[in-house]
Amino acid sequence: MPDRAPYPHPLPDTDLDVLVIGAGPAGIALAADLARYGVRCQVAERRPDPRPGTRCPNLWRRTLYAYDRLGQSSDELRAHGVPMRSKAFHVGDRTAELSLLEDADDQQWPYPLLVRQDRQEEYLTALARKHGCPVRRGVTARIVAQEQGCVRVELTTPEGSPELLRAAWVVAADGAQSPSRAAAGVDWQVLRHDGVAWWQVDAGIEGVKLPTDREDLFHAPYSHVGMVPLADGRHRVFLASATEDATAQPSYEDVERLFTAVVHPEARLHEPRHLWWHTPVEGRAERWLTGRVILLGEAARVFPMPVHGLNTGIQDAANLAWKLAAVVQGRASVRLLRTYESERRRVAEVLMERGKRVLRAGVAADPEATLAPILHEGSPRIRTEPAPTYEMSPLTGGTERFADGCAGHWIASCPVHTPAGVWSVSTLQSQGQWLVLSPSREPLNVTHPLNPRVVDGAQLAVCDRLMITIVRPDGYVGAEIPCGTGRPAERAVLDYLDRVAVGG
Ligand SMILES: Cc1cc2nc3c(=O)[nH]c(=O)nc-3n(C[C@H](O)[C@H](O)[C@H](O)COP(=O)(O)OP(=O)(O)OC[C@H]3O[C@@H](n4cnc5c(N)ncnc54)[C@H](O)[C@@H]3O)c2cc1C
Repeated sequence: MPDRAPYPHPLPDTDLDVLVIGAGPAGIALAADLARYGVRCQVAERRPDPRPGTRCPNLWRRTLYAYDRLGQSSDELRAHGVPMRSKAFHVGDRTAELSLLEDADDQQWPYPLLVRQDRQEEYLTALARKHGCPVRRGVTARIVAQEQGCVRVELTTPEGSPELLRAAWVVAADGAQSPSRAAAGVDWQVLRHDGVAWWQVDAGIEGVKLPTDREDLFHAPYSHVGMVPLADGRHRVFLASATEDATAQPSYEDVERLFTAVVHPEARLHEPRHLWWHTPVEGRAERWLTGRVILLGEAARVFPMPVHGLNTGIQDAANLAWKLAAVVQGRASVRLLRTYESERRRVAEVLMERGKRVLRAGVAADPEATLAPILHEGSPRIRTEPAPTYEMSPLTGGTERFADGCAGHWIASCPVHTPAGVWSVSTLQSQGQWLVLSPSREPLNVTHPLNPRVVDGAQLAVCDRLMITIVRPDGYVGAEIPCGTGRPAERAVLDYLDRVAVGG
C-alpha cells in the first residue's frame, strides 16, 4: 500500500457495519470495542434476560487489561471482585500453597481477579451501550444469505415480528451450539471426554475454614473438589469425578456427598444454587471466517472443560476488534482478518492440550503421585493463564524477531517512565491505539491511516529500550526496529504499518 490510499468501505448502504449475534461475554466485549472505534454495530441476543449463576468467576491478567481498554473503570471492577492471591493443593494431609502473583511490578493487576460471570456480562452490556451500541434482548437472529458485500439476517423480535437487516459483517458469537455456524455451512468437530463428570454449584461452605483470597483444591483418588471465593462470601464450588455414567443429572445431595467425602467429614454446603453438570467436550470449527461471517468465542472453539472459555473469548474479541474496525473503516484490507483466525486458533490449540492434561490430573487414581512436582518439589509458582505469543504471526516483524527482542509478546502491563509518573503501555495506548515507543529524543513523524500514537525519548523520563517498539492495539508487540532517527526510522515504521494494513 505504498500510496496509503484508503481501502474501499465494504458497502455504504447497509443497515449496519457489524451485527453481533449473541450477548455472551465474547460478543458483548467485541461490540463494546467496535462501538468505541466508531463502528456502527448492534447485538442481538435471544434470551430476554441475562443467564443467572456464577459460571466463570476468574479474570486473568490479560483479560483484565482487555477490560481496561474497553473503558471499564478498574475501581468498579475491583469493588465487585476478590483478588486471588494463591492456590492451595490439598492431598491427604499435605497442603502446598502457591502464589498467583503474576508480576510484582504491575501496579494495576498483579493478581487474577474473581468476578462472577453474570456480573461481568452486566458490566460489558453497560459499556457497549455507553459507547452507543444497542444490545437487543429477546431477539433471535437467523442468517438468511450472504450476498455481494453484505449478509442478510432475519431478526425475530420479542413480539414475534420478523425484521430484515443487511449487515456488512456478521459476527457469530452465539455459543457452542451456534445456529449461525451451521447456517454458514461450517463444519464442527466434537470430541467428548467420556468417563469424567464435572459438576458445579454456587454455595456457602460450613465445617471447613478457608481464606477469602485463595483457590482451594482438594484431591482424592479419581476425584477432586475446587473452591473459589466470591465477593458475597459464598464460593463457586466445582467437582470432578471419574465415573461410568458422566451424563446423569446429579442432585444437590449427590453434590454434597462428594464434597464431604473429598474435602472433610464435617464439610457441608450451605444453600447450594445454580447446579450445573456436564461431560467435558472439546469442539473446533473447521473455519472461523467464511465470507462475511466471522465466528467468535465458543462458536469457534470449545475447551474440554469450563475453564478457559470466557477469558479466551474476551482476548479473541480484543484481537478481532481492531482488525475488523480497520477493515470496516477502510483503513486495512479484508486480508487482515485472516490473521485473527491464524493467531487465535493457535492459542486455542495450546489451551485444548492444557485443558486435557488438567482434566486427566484432576481425576487421577493416585493424586499424590500426579501432583508430586507441586507437593514435594515446591514448584515456585503456577500460571493461571498461559502466555501466548504471536512470534510466528505474519503481523510480527522486525530484525530482532527471533533474538532477545520481544516482537510478538504481550507488553500491555509494562511500565513506561514519563515525567508525570509511571504509566503502563496500555494506558499510553488510550484504550486501543497503536503505539510507537521511540528511545530517540528526535521527533518521529509517522502519519498513517492506522493512526499510531508516537511517544519519543523526549517525552520519557527513563527509557530502557534500545529499539523502536511498535505496539498493537491489543497490547502485543508488532515489531521492533533498530533505533534510528529521521527519514529512515520513519520509513521503517510506516513500512511495517503498511504491511499490517495489507494483512501481513
Ligand atoms: C459452570 C461453568 C463454569 C465456567 N468456568 C469458567 C472459568 O473458570 N473460566 C473461563 O474462562 N470460562 C469458564 N466457563 C466458560 C464460559 O462461561 C464460556 O466460555 C463463555 O460463556 C462463552 O462465551 P461466549 O460469548 O462465547 O458464548 P455464550 O456465553 O454461550 O453466549 C452465547 C449467546 O448467544 C445467544 N444466542 C444463541 N443463538 C442465538 C441466536 N440465534 N440469536 C441471538 N442470540 C443467540 C445465547 O443465548 C447466548 O447468550 C464456565 C462455564 C460454565 C458453564
